[in-house]
Amino acid sequence: MQERIQEKLNILADSAKYDVSCSSSGSDRKNTDKGLGNASNSGICHTFTEDGRCVSLLKILLTNHCIFDCAYCVSRKSNDVKRAAFTVQEVVDLTIGFYRRNYIEGLFLSSGIFKDADTTMERLVRIAKKLRLEHRFNGYIHLKTIPGASDELMKEAGLYADRLSVNIELPTERGLKLLAPDKTFATMEKPMGYISNTITALNDTRKLMLSTPKFAPAGQSTQVIIGATDESDLEVIQTADRFYRGFNLKRVYYSGYVPVLADNRLPSLSSQVPLLRENRLYQADWLMRFYGFGAHEILDDSNPFLDLDIDPKFGWALRNLDLFPLDVNKADLEMILRVPGIGVRSAQKIVATRKFGNLGWENLRKLGISLNRARYFIVCKDPALEIKDHSPEALRHLVLSAGKSKFSDLWGVQTSLFG
Ligand code: SF4
Repeated sequence: MQERIQEKLNILADSAKYDVSCSSSGSDRKNTDKGLGNASNSGICHTFTEDGRCVSLLKILLTNHCIFDCAYCVSRKSNDVKRAAFTVQEVVDLTIGFYRRNYIEGLFLSSGIFKDADTTMERLVRIAKKLRLEHRFNGYIHLKTIPGASDELMKEAGLYADRLSVNIELPTERGLKLLAPDKTFATMEKPMGYISNTITALNDTRKLMLSTPKFAPAGQSTQVIIGATDESDLEVIQTADRFYRGFNLKRVYYSGYVPVLADNRLPSLSSQVPLLRENRLYQADWLMRFYGFGAHEILDDSNPFLDLDIDPKFGWALRNLDLFPLDVNKADLEMILRVPGIGVRSAQKIVATRKFGNLGWENLRKLGISLNRARYFIVCKDPALEIKDHSPEALRHLVLSAGKSKFSDLWGVQTSLFG
């Protein structure tokens, strides 16, 4: 590889590493016409580094030049870093070259803003278009869109990319005002609305006209940085909930703030990355997407932060002990889903299996249910295992002392960034 390209790659792959919103799930783009690659069947399996960042795609910035000055970003215009920019052809050549050598299964392309939103977005679109049309590349493409880009460019982007993302970065308008004064929620939400409406409209048209092109078939996602500003977890999940409901987002990614820049608006450089908080937010997000919980049930004004010691579902159950014990042979699926220790597939298995007779502890074990937590919250046809008049504190202690969390080593280093 030419030395200059290698240097650009070092700079622009390094600058892209703080973006975790690159998952390749959800696309079924197939190889057609002897084209190159295949988004799902050829094994697009995104792997994650230990701190949860996705590394399976060629993940680069088109440029780290930027006219904006977001305090948390290494590419911000006031940061004194080496700058570089790929040409459209260089990104195309790198993608095809790495793909052929089996290094990557797709491309995650983001960018600083060169001159204005449209100029930058137009180049991102040109890359995706060249890959698809000239190289017949059927691998996964995730484009991060540039806020403020025109609807026409967004439409083109969605026709060639599998996934589009608009990174909101901070969970509230006040956070944006403080750290990203060039951005507003309105400029971020406009493209989200456009993407969501276009996906819905084209899906509806496809029902009548099969030849209707697919638009961003893997949907859209966003990223929220956690811990750069003082928002509570409640504010974070309320924003996520609003995005899921308002814009049909596939995923919200939570990224613990990595302190790399000295700025008195930001946590100090010695602050720990809030990994445990990030993990609890992913669990809360999971509850909203797969377990039917509303954001208001997970946290409220009197409980604005997730408990770092216990997962949010167990926390909810402890605050709602009056709803338990639950009879697994009679309860609705939606309530069984709320029992700590019972996952979505286990809950479905319970409902399917109990049609053939009432379930006892042994049946539940055979269904793969982890009873060391669930036994405090359910009854079945056998005598109760652990239902006593436990207080929430006693139950919490019992469960915590029974198992060592894989995150417990982190508890000692998890500090409050804002005192
Ligand atoms: S607009 Fe994007 S690239 Fe530019 S400073 Fe802000 S976060 Fe960084």
